[in-house]
Amino acid sequence: MFSNSVNKTANIPYIGRFAPSPTGPLHFGSLLAALASYLDAKSNHGQWLVRIEDIDPPREISGSKDEILNALDVYGLFSDQTIVFQSQRSDFYQQALEQLIAQKSVFPCICSRKQLANRGGIHFGDCLANIETNIPFAWRFDSQFITENYSQGMASFHDHLQGMFSQSVEESIGDFVVKRKDQLWAYQLAMVVDDYEQGITHVVRGIDLIDSTLRQNMLQRALGYPIPAYAHIPVACGENGQKLSKQNLAPALDLSHPEETLWRALSWLGQEPPKNLRLASVKEMLLWGVQHWQPLKLQAIKNQPAI
Ligand code: GLU
Repeated sequence: MFSNSVNKTANIPYIGRFAPSPTGPLHFGSLLAALASYLDAKSNHGQWLVRIEDIDPPREISGSKDEILNALDVYGLFSDQTIVFQSQRSDFYQQALEQLIAQKSVFPCICSRKQLANRGGIHFGDCLANIETNIPFAWRFDSQFITENYSQGMASFHDHLQGMFSQSVEESIGDFVVKRKDQLWAYQLAMVVDDYEQGITHVVRGIDLIDSTLRQNMLQRALGYPIPAYAHIPVACGENGQKLSKQNLAPALDLSHPEETLWRALSWLGQEPPKNLRLASVKEMLLWGVQHWQPLKLQAIKNQPAI
């Protein structure tokens, strides 16, 4: 992992993962997350798993699951276990929800976004609406249920790349949704359950997701799951300075010259691949990446334009 990667040891179990949502094809920014998580896992003699987070059909773009999986193949990034699809795992999420209901760490809520607008969309403490029968409700996690790692209203965790990260429980975390009013599972719950069920020990992903980590840690504690190690890597921006994302229509990865893009991705990640590696195959390039992986070089990188 990031902190001990200089002294690699084969004895530390390591299972990492890449968990894209099928909301569009992979772009350069998603390749960086896939590659960093892959290189970190492999350089620690670990496994690397792929999970498709297809729990939000209204946001899905048809065909993108296949596009994503095909792009990963072209870039030589193969999952060490059968690929998991969240759309097939409702039973696991239901079991976890029942555990949360039994321990009273979640509550039903019909508060609307409009009602929460004055509080920056954050629900904290009492509901602003009374539950009425026959009205669809969401299940929210009570953020006051967990008090570990709290100090003076702040929750914190240690990120292996970003250092200590803290958020106000009342102003930034609040009582977050674990099952939506439209009956869809919320990302926070599904991700936590799957990371646990798949035995994930290390999460390496884009820094845009760091805001979710403390919520996920709360759920892990409530459900009695171990908490994986986290490293949030910088994200690539477009020319407008915004994070490259499927939502702002970042161009899909070039599948005809993966070697060229992979070399640029290794450079972006601060790994300084030699010029002549540009002529190597995808397999050779990944092998070089694993053998020379120096994750702490990422600390010098800010969110910067794609190259
Ligand atoms: N599915 C999330 C996304 O595509 C990533 C989840 C994660 O890595 O925790 O943004």
